Amino acid sequence: MLRSKNADYKNVRDRQENSTATIQQLISMDMELGKRMSEVICRAWNELDASLFESILSDDFEYISIWVLETMKGKNRYIDYITGKFESIRKENNPVSAEIIFQERIDKYVVVLNQGGNLAALEPTIEDDMLKSLWMRPVDMTLPAVFMSKKPKRSIVKKEETEYEKFSKLFHEALMEKDFSCVDWFLADDVVQILYDNKEISGKKNVISYWLDWLERWNEPAVNTNYNIKLCKYYDREVLSIEPRGKRILYQMARIEEGKAKQLILCPNPLQSPMIRYWDLDHSPLLFKAQTVMPHRMGKDLEPRLYRIPCMRCGCKSENLQWYEYSHEAGPLGYKGELSVCTNCMEAVEFFPTILLRYK
Ligand SMILES: [Zn+2]
Repeated sequence: MLRSKNADYKNVRDRQENSTATIQQLISMDMELGKRMSEVICRAWNELDASLFESILSDDFEYISIWVLETMKGKNRYIDYITGKFESIRKENNPVSAEIIFQERIDKYVVVLNQGGNLAALEPTIEDDMLKSLWMRPVDMTLPAVFMSKKPKRSIVKKEETEYEKFSKLFHEALMEKDFSCVDWFLADDVVQILYDNKEISGKKNVISYWLDWLERWNEPAVNTNYNIKLCKYYDREVLSIEPRGKRILYQMARIEEGKAKQLILCPNPLQSPMIRYWDLDHSPLLFKAQTVMPHRMGKDLEPRLYRIPCMRCGCKSENLQWYEYSHEAGPLGYKGELSVCTNCMEAVEFFPTILLRYK
């Protein structure tokens, strides 16, 4: 039954992609799918019917429980597990009832299990219209656990020049001409330019003179620097890529508020030692499609870091973000590093890998 609902959903979405779906419509369709998935999970638990999971789980499904250290990976493994679990519940006559609730803090439907008054929540994550993971946790444990993104795929959004594209082009022009009058109006008087892991420069005048010095120091004809406008998918905005010949690529990313660039961050790509190949502005800090940070992979808190990437959504500076140790698995490789999180926006800001792990 869900299969056909899924198909309907896909049809609707395909049609929408070809026409003019608004972001709001797409978000509400994703929400609707989340609700339907939760309904199936609920039914499976209430009827102790593991076969209902068959049509909704992705092959690389993951089950994570806050009470169990290891992540259970793979659709078949989970179906074996839940079949056994349902059998033992039936045998022991220790019934579980399931219901759906909407958790506003995370903007998501979750399934709450009640076994003799003990409550636990199952939080679904959906990817490519399939159930990608279930996270079992206490009902109230939502912060700082999961950071989600509500952004629809960019290709659906009507393409027109954004203010970030415009800013990047004008900044490029200023560097080419060694004259910032074309972009002057776009810079807030109190604009802050952060140089990644180095220092920050405050105020429009100082920022412009920094860049004029930079051009002076580089002292090469403009043609020897390769400039490009690139899209940073994670922040969904254009950045200016600056590649002086023979040097590391630099990305200049802006945060624009009420039509003025308030913050600028100049960072190398990749951020870390090139030996640890990971970070690219084309990726989200964690490479997860659903941009979900798995709380069980968070380690201890770290000291705040200065002059790192600020929250490019709200502007919160890196020293005011929450920093954690974090491990990220990516197939046979994994990364251990530092993760910063903005608690205003409930979003991951930067993942800086420090160690490359190889799993056998
Ligand atoms: Zn923020």
